[in-house]
Amino acid sequence: MPLTDEHDLSCDVLVAGGGMAGVCAAVAAVRNGATVILCQDRPVLGGNASSEVRMHIVGADASGGRGTPLATEAREGGILEEIRLENCIRNPQRSPSMFDLILYEKCRAEPKLTLLLNTCITGANVAGRRITRATAERQSTEDRFTIAARVFVDCTGDGRLGVEAGARWREGREARGEFHESLAPDTADNRRLGSSILFQARRHDRPMPFEAPPWAHRFTEDDLRLRPHATGHADLGLEFGYWWVEWGGKLDTIKKNETIRDELLAITLGVWDHIKNGGDHGAENWALEWFGFLPGKRESRRFVGQYTLTQNDVMESTPFNDAIAYGGWFIDTHPPGGVDEPDRPPCTQERVPRLYDIPLRACVSDEIPNLMFAGRNISATHVAFASTRVMGTCAAVGQGVGTAAAYAVRQGLLPAELASNPAAMHAIQDQLLRDDAYLIGRTFDDPDDLARTALLTASSQQADGPASNVLTGQTRSVHGAGGVASERATPGSHRWMSDPGRPLPARIELRWPEPVTPAGIRLIFDTGLHRVLTLSQADDYTRRMIWGRSQPETVRDYTIEGQSQGEWRDLVRVEGNYQRRRVHPLDRRPLDAVRITVTATNGLDQARICEVRFDKETA
Ligand SMILES: Cc1cc2nc3c(=O)[nH]c(=O)nc-3n(C[C@H](O)[C@H](O)[C@H](O)COP(=O)(O)OP(=O)(O)OC[C@H]3O[C@@H](n4cnc5c(N)ncnc54)[C@H](O)[C@@H]3O)c2cc1C
Repeated sequence: MPLTDEHDLSCDVLVAGGGMAGVCAAVAAVRNGATVILCQDRPVLGGNASSEVRMHIVGADASGGRGTPLATEAREGGILEEIRLENCIRNPQRSPSMFDLILYEKCRAEPKLTLLLNTCITGANVAGRRITRATAERQSTEDRFTIAARVFVDCTGDGRLGVEAGARWREGREARGEFHESLAPDTADNRRLGSSILFQARRHDRPMPFEAPPWAHRFTEDDLRLRPHATGHADLGLEFGYWWVEWGGKLDTIKKNETIRDELLAITLGVWDHIKNGGDHGAENWALEWFGFLPGKRESRRFVGQYTLTQNDVMESTPFNDAIAYGGWFIDTHPPGGVDEPDRPPCTQERVPRLYDIPLRACVSDEIPNLMFAGRNISATHVAFASTRVMGTCAAVGQGVGTAAAYAVRQGLLPAELASNPAAMHAIQDQLLRDDAYLIGRTFDDPDDLARTALLTASSQQADGPASNVLTGQTRSVHGAGGVASERATPGSHRWMSDPGRPLPARIELRWPEPVTPAGIRLIFDTGLHRVLTLSQADDYTRRMIWGRSQPETVRDYTIEGQSQGEWRDLVRVEGNYQRRRVHPLDRRPLDAVRITVTATNGLDQARICEVRFDKETA
């Protein structure tokens, strides 16, 4: 009898890899009606953001580096924002494991999403250029799976599924001339960003000795002169560790991963030895609490898609009709040798002037029409990847890809057919906006929205926050030149703001000329998208956030009442809200008017609502 049990599974969309890209792709696809299987080879979700690696998620807002507050709401929305807000409230202690749990619960909450943890995709069957099945193994239970799907989404980072299927991919750095990229090297090479192991240390109330193992490397102050490490004691940063503990970019980061892990352990413990025993670093009472055994991998393969995103697209913010997400992080390159290159700074961050589009075509294989990808393996040059690779952007791309995958399944189309189909792209982009993703400059003009036919009034409003703003079809402020966010976005606050001079409650009312029977109401609240918000083990970074409590701009308590034939009745009553997007099904009785009354915020002296939508009965 063979030990291994064989299982045949099927779904609409198979997502391989459960990092931030994979989680958001899977959740988006299932919420848009597809049946989904998510295979993650580790016991936890989150990839480099998980408790196994512990990087904090950054994104298009460049960690708050985009200038003045009002027009800089570049933080990703949608599924990632939902996760961030929940994590902020449920995880005030900043536990990495609690973040794992939140991602796990997000997947487990979706009845049509099958989560296979500890399950590694190991192969793919292709017939007539299309992937028909993937194979996966769960060693811990001696199970093998054959998974049939209509769309396959590779979010493994390393691209294992697509490579098994024969998809084309690139590695290393392109020559400057190939895509006319000024930041690329003269000649192509196979160098890449290295991998890292983070450490986290804790301060004790007495001296904590450290003896390095004999195989740890030795570092002098001169070796680390360009790598800040409790230098001058200011801002020790020992509670988070050092991302610049990096090595392996001159090797094949997949095939040599075990070698790289061993070397990174020797480097990590050597750096710690230097901090503890190599002169005064103010770390006498500090001791190592945790360090990873799983290298965080920055770069390996990048697929070749229907389009390859380049430095010029990133720097010039090329508009794409098939945009499904946006980026904005620096072009953040590192010396491939990592700590072996002490004469070079550990990173070079080229500022990206504006937010930029990420087209669907960069996420669809050029050869295998039902293969999509999201995350660090999308179709981009090395230089463009150096910006798209951050996890906020990976998550936004994941939501875009998952939404497009579900649409393709619903319409009986192949992913490769979507980008050239204007009606399909329109529908996908509208769905993304409906789900609070942001697409640069794109206005959500929902023909099915009953709010558009209503007369809108408010108990009070500010000059730059009239009630009509809840219908502008944009829900954030990202306009402006001069290094802010996007010249394509319409200026304005894009939210109703009640008069702070008049105490709450504040009210907004929609009245229809003829009774309507909406199926539901969708609200978008202000959650302070101009601020940084991410789980981080770094104390100084966390101090820049409002962490462990709700964002003050967000409406906390509200009621929604409906009027029929002159009579008002309660439709919805919410207390303790901290989320940005709230959806409330209604009881499908005819309504002449609806009023939304804000009785409390989470701190601000005024009510703010960015969007109000009413779904038609058929929605
Ligand atoms: C040290 C370091 C520091 C960084 N700093 C930051 C930072 O501060 N902020 C930031 O946002 N980004 C940062 N990055 C970049 C970022 O972490 C990566 O680009 C990002 O994690 C890519 O996301 P992803 O979802 O594509 O892949 P990953 O996070 O790598 O997730 C992919 C997942 O797929 C799984 N997988 C792989 N193969 C298979 C398979 N065959 N079957 C099933 N599952 C599989 C992996 O185990 C993994 O969990 C850093 C990266 C590193 C390494």
